[in-house]
Amino acid sequence: MRYQHSLLAAFALSACLAAPALAQPAPQNDMLNAVLWTQKSVEFKGNALTAFTLAKLRLDEALHDTGWTAAPVEQTNAYHNLPPAIIADVDETLMDNSPYQAWQAVGNNEFDPKSWTAFVNSGTSLAIPGAVEFLKYAESKGVKIFYVTNRTAEEEPGTRKNMAALGFPVDPVIDTVLTSREKPDWTSAKSTRRAYIAKDYRVLLLLGDNYGDFTDDYRGTEEQRMASYEANKWHFGKDWIMIANPQYGSFESAPFKHDFKMSEDDRRKAKRATLKPWNGK
Ligand SMILES: [Mg+2]
Repeated sequence: MRYQHSLLAAFALSACLAAPALAQPAPQNDMLNAVLWTQKSVEFKGNALTAFTLAKLRLDEALHDTGWTAAPVEQTNAYHNLPPAIIADVDETLMDNSPYQAWQAVGNNEFDPKSWTAFVNSGTSLAIPGAVEFLKYAESKGVKIFYVTNRTAEEEPGTRKNMAALGFPVDPVIDTVLTSREKPDWTSAKSTRRAYIAKDYRVLLLLGDNYGDFTDDYRGTEEQRMASYEANKWHFGKDWIMIANPQYGSFESAPFKHDFKMSEDDRRKAKRATLKPWNGK
């Protein structure tokens, strides 16, 4: 008997004995398990620590190899002797916003920019396990840390305050928190910001939770994304470090072609249609 089945049998028995009258069903929300895993599981924490431990080993390798760059598309200059830098996404790569996602899951609330900005300004994001320690190590080795985030300029003061409180190293002189639309060509696709950094630094590592933190190919269809993955998969675990985020991201929007104007029900139908289920026999 699988673990879930023995538990189910025990719960069913206790439910019968307690005989609750007119129990209300819990609100249904597709994000429940993903938020539960991120916020409460040992497995998520262990996964994140594994990634940052690997990142530290790779950083040491990259520092000693002047031919190493993690941004071959953007790093087109003579970079070998440039000072070293890391490019890291913020949300769900370094900072854990699971309280916001839990607010969505528990209250059946949809993401919207207004509530998101209010959450950001509440300064209650948490540090992903291993993130602060890894970046402090990188800083101690003379590596410049750039935060390339799709948080907006309006959200930058709250973001900086939250990051400082959590102990993330933020350069006091150079602007290393590069938010979306801070410059006209800094769109949510991050290649232009990677290119901006790569002009003056040798990029040792990219860290992210979304394919878009590594390449602008994230916007394609599922087939295009998979073709891009096949071409780029050698980067993962070497100079691209991915943090697991099952809560949201381009993986979730690819099945409905990133069209968030679609109704929630139509988006769910598109996601279900893309799965490859066993036939049950
Ligand atoms: Mg992110």
